[in-house]
Amino acid sequence: MIRLPDHELDESTAKALDKYQAEVDRSRSYKKRVELAKERWEQVHRSVKFNPVKSTLARMCCGARRCAYCEDSYADEVEHFRPKDLYPEHVFRWQNYAYTCGPCNGPKGNQFAVFTSSRGKPTLVARGQNDPVKPPAKGPIALIDPRSEDPLEYLWLDLEEFVFTENADEGTRAWHRARYTIDTLGLNKRDELVTARASAYGSFRARLKEYRESKTARVAAHQLHALRDDIRSLHHQTVFAEMQRQRVTSSELKDLFKGILEATTWKPQLWNPAGLTT
Ligand SMILES: [Zn+2]
Repeated sequence: MIRLPDHELDESTAKALDKYQAEVDRSRSYKKRVELAKERWEQVHRSVKFNPVKSTLARMCCGARRCAYCEDSYADEVEHFRPKDLYPEHVFRWQNYAYTCGPCNGPKGNQFAVFTSSRGKPTLVARGQNDPVKPPAKGPIALIDPRSEDPLEYLWLDLEEFVFTENADEGTRAWHRARYTIDTLGLNKRDELVTARASAYGSFRARLKEYRESKTARVAAHQLHALRDDIRSLHHQTVFAEMQRQRVTSSELKDLFKGILEATTWKPQLWNPAGLTT
């Protein structure tokens, strides 16, 4: 999981979303707002009016339009970070959207949790099929929001096992948030993700070596930039961000970045179907 860049919608699309949201918000009861949120969403998100939302979300994805949660699969589903079934007041909020893949969006579904007390685990607020339609408990959210937070502040990727761990002391709120996010999104329990991160690590290392050799051989600037952008476009940019972070404590990684310190600050290349330079 990597922080998504800030992008604004064009004015008319932003206004249209505000209008849909205002209509939902005007309903008298919470139950009615939940019903209307779902109804309007079904009508709107498949219509052409929603295309600018999707194209803007796509331009916020890394590399070959990878999912905001797993960074592995093609992102083609508009995910409500706060589930629309629980938070109808966020159903048409731009800041509540991310582009994700089916394997992430499906299991995450309506799972959500908040901290209802200053200590301990978050409280799960997902509604069961036969539960009454009532507003969820209030409190700070548990799931890490890649639209407004840097997931790597909370998560630490082990570069030997390629699983995420908590980047905080056990039992702290930051620790609980990391734990909840890892479990809810299945970031470690899907073997294919762990394998893909290990493979990405090998690719990043090989590409960095190639970049350094090319730099030493004084190849043309445009060739060097192409190599740089290849690295910035690979899947699993969290692996690369973690390599940048851990080079401070790992002699192997320190050696890998020797002579190419510019690579320590590279950011992910965003999805750019037109092939324009960003
Ligand atoms: Zn995914």
